[in-house]
Amino acid sequence: MKTLLNLLIIAALTSTSAFADLKVKAGPRRGLLMDLGTSQAEFFVEKDRSISFALYDAAMKPQPVTGEVITATAETPGGKTKIEFEKKGDLLVSKTPLPEGVGYQVVVQAKASPEAKPKNFRIKLQLHTCEKCGNPEYACTCDE
Ligand SMILES: [Zn+2]
Repeated sequence: MKTLLNLLIIAALTSTSAFADLKVKAGPRRGLLMDLGTSQAEFFVEKDRSISFALYDAAMKPQPVTGEVITATAETPGGKTKIEFEKKGDLLVSKTPLPEGVGYQVVVQAKASPEAKPKNFRIKLQLHTCEKCGNPEYACTCDE
């Protein structure tokens, strides 16, 4: 019980830090999985540099967009660009493509429902494919 309590305290402490701990997990589309608590969102950069999110339940069963709210900010050397998303079928797709270039940070703010506490995820945008795991570099799982 004491261990559980300690774990809960650690969890509480870590969740107060601005960014959620990102242990890299890749989804079925080889995108980066983000744990939103009650659902998981898979960050994926399309060929046209738009971002799309597919959603899954805890057992990784695909699910439709039920109220997830996602925004992103591209932090390029030239400044910050806010990216908004809209529902397209079962995906949340960015209304605008990512700014040009690679190597900059993309901060994703996501919540499982409009009332949920937002979670922040920081991604270093590298779009080449990792030769070892075959995932795009932003979803590379090799460092586990
Ligand atoms: Zn890899």
